[in-house]
Amino acid sequence: MKATKRALPLLPLRGIQVFPYMVIHLDVGRPKSIAAMEEAMVQDKQLLLVTQKDPRIDEPESGEIYQVGTVAEIKQLLKIPGGTMRVLVEGLARGRIISIEKTDPFYLVDCEEYEEGKAEENAEIEALMRGVISQFEQYVKLSKKIPAETVVSIVTVEDPGRLADLIGAHLNLKQEDKQRLLEAVALPQRLETLYVFLSRELEILEVERKISIRVRKQMEKTQKEYYLREQLKAIQKELGERGEEEDEARAFRERIAKAKLPDEVRQKAEREAERLGKMPPMAAEAVVVRTYLEWLLALPWNKVTEDRLDLDRAEQILNEDHYGLKKVKERILEYLAVRKLANKMKGPILCLVGPPGVGKTSLAKSVARAIDRRFVRISLGGVRDEAEIRGHRRTYVGALPGRIIQGMRQANSKNPVFLLDEIDKMSMDFRGDPSAALLEVLDPEQNNSFSDHYIELPFDLSHTMFITTANTTHTIPRALLDRMELISLPGYTEEEKLHIGRKFLLPKQLKEHGLKPEQLTLSDNTIKGIIREYTREAGVRNLERSIASLCRKAAREIVQGKKEKIHITSRNLNVYLGPPRFRFGVAQKKDEVGVATGLAWTEAGGDVLSIEVSLMSGKGNLTLTGQLGGVMRESAQAGYTYIRSQAEKLGIVENFHEKQDVHIHVPEGAIPKDGPSAGITMATALASALSGRPVRSDVAMSGEITLRGRVLPVGGIKEKVLAAHRAGIKTLILPEESRQDLDEIPRHVRRKLNFVFVDNMDQVLKHALVG
Ligand code: ADP
Repeated sequence: MKATKRALPLLPLRGIQVFPYMVIHLDVGRPKSIAAMEEAMVQDKQLLLVTQKDPRIDEPESGEIYQVGTVAEIKQLLKIPGGTMRVLVEGLARGRIISIEKTDPFYLVDCEEYEEGKAEENAEIEALMRGVISQFEQYVKLSKKIPAETVVSIVTVEDPGRLADLIGAHLNLKQEDKQRLLEAVALPQRLETLYVFLSRELEILEVERKISIRVRKQMEKTQKEYYLREQLKAIQKELGERGEEEDEARAFRERIAKAKLPDEVRQKAEREAERLGKMPPMAAEAVVVRTYLEWLLALPWNKVTEDRLDLDRAEQILNEDHYGLKKVKERILEYLAVRKLANKMKGPILCLVGPPGVGKTSLAKSVARAIDRRFVRISLGGVRDEAEIRGHRRTYVGALPGRIIQGMRQANSKNPVFLLDEIDKMSMDFRGDPSAALLEVLDPEQNNSFSDHYIELPFDLSHTMFITTANTTHTIPRALLDRMELISLPGYTEEEKLHIGRKFLLPKQLKEHGLKPEQLTLSDNTIKGIIREYTREAGVRNLERSIASLCRKAAREIVQGKKEKIHITSRNLNVYLGPPRFRFGVAQKKDEVGVATGLAWTEAGGDVLSIEVSLMSGKGNLTLTGQLGGVMRESAQAGYTYIRSQAEKLGIVENFHEKQDVHIHVPEGAIPKDGPSAGITMATALASALSGRPVRSDVAMSGEITLRGRVLPVGGIKEKVLAAHRAGIKTLILPEESRQDLDEIPRHVRRKLNFVFVDNMDQVLKHALVG
């Protein structure tokens, strides 16, 4: 190859090789390089571009620059801000540095320029060229980094030297390798070098490709498995084979087939099971469907227990469980007799009304036992949401059937005795009226297809015997009340309680506590003592509790070995139960002025209360204290007005209302009181205070007063009489019209009390005031 010697300014390059025929932009900033360029511009615009070995060095020495570079011509020069120049250069030919002439202000070198030009064609070069081209094409295919047009323009180059340079420039080679290519001046050698590089690059690319394929395969594997599983499922389905969820659905279908459900229910259940089979087992919806199916299967759609309507046996059982309550038991037996004759359970619903602890719940349980039916009880106290009766729709999260259906599931037969406890304590609010739903439950005309929102299928409640309980009737909605037959249990007298305690509660509690009858004995007086001093109630709940408490204490002493037998008398009672809680005989001990005893009705039975009146000099104000309700306040006003109008007749100072303030107080102020029935009592206390005549302490009274002094009837007479009896009252003043209410009071109680029936206030005062 021809070489010409010449002197040229040198431009050291960092990290880049420029090949002949290459046109490239270079940014030049180093002062020496700029000086070299300026020199070139003054001369023939040519300079030598040589790569420095370490690109980090700013002022390379002669040994730090490669020997071979490219002679290039400056095509364009552009100053850019910051003192750098951008030059466009075109490589012309290879050049080798022979010597460095000077290094300041720029490198000037003597070099040999090798003329690029047509080499002579021979077979070897031709073979090498073909090899290089085919290798390059393969390289492009694998690396995918060089655009197709470039490839076409490169492989059509005919000059072998130029071809090698172009390909070399496009390869992703290290700096040393590019330099080696640049230094390969002779042609066959240059092509050979390139050939080696290409082969090596191809090999690397091939390995890269394999690695990437392997990685991709691993990643795809999990996806593939999922995909295959899905396909498998589809195939199984085609072949009629079952998957996991199908298994569950099938199990449900088998249970449905065995369950003897009514047609409608069965169809619905089958539809749901079908749906379940199509759902992925973990789906939230599947849980809902599963629970729903469990409910459908668990309900006693067709299960009934055999009734035993043997009245003699029923009577015997009722008597076994409860003392007294003669009327109630008779009523229940009549009811059962009608059912036996009519052979169906339609008819009014029994409602047992009475204070707590009189045996309403246990009576209902006893009825179930008497006719051999299952017993369930739900309490309606505090129920204020229709959904509690009728359930929530299944679309609600955590929806469940209402209490009725829950009770039926618990009963596991569709004809249980179903006790709806505390029906009077149900209330309503914005969430709907539970009593409307209850109406549907209790109505014999429509309860054969009771619809629960959750179950969505009609359930037959017509075989169920509903019994309800209440403490009072006036909070029960009218419509409900109409459906029910009321049986009232007013409470027990002391004698009855004594009997119940001895014959029923004590044996029951002894048994529950694992005591033998001889291990704990109570005398009659002890039980009476408990009744009088530790309880004040219409029922026997606290009596039972106190007896249970004695049993516990006895059990402990026996187990600890302190004693073998325990006998409790009225003397040592307080050792076991603590100091007495109530004073027996709350009636006033002596006749007093301004204090009268009234009778009150509460949900817990009757009670006595004393009303106090006090006078102070003032301006005729009337003060009422003791948590009195509106009706009671008005009643007090009416009494006051009446006494004023009768002042003269009663011997009261005429214009007392101008000079005296009156204060009426009803003790136990923490308990709210209301109602008109204390009217005559307040008037009596007033008359006594104003006239100075004392009220007889053994007299109690109840009745409403009018402005004219008429006495009107009041309710709860039975409970009030029993309470008066408990409290040791001798004479009772009651409205004339309440006379017939006395029938239901046990004769021995009636015999002990002196009843005075009155029409007007004059009569009341005549009997109540002393003298
Ligand atoms: P209620 O439902 O009216 O509030 P319960 O039925 O809970 O009252 O009765 C309380 C307890 O008193 C029960 O253990 C019950 O057996 C007992 N009891 C109530 N009345 C009688 C009775 N007449 N004879 C025997 N035990 C009774």
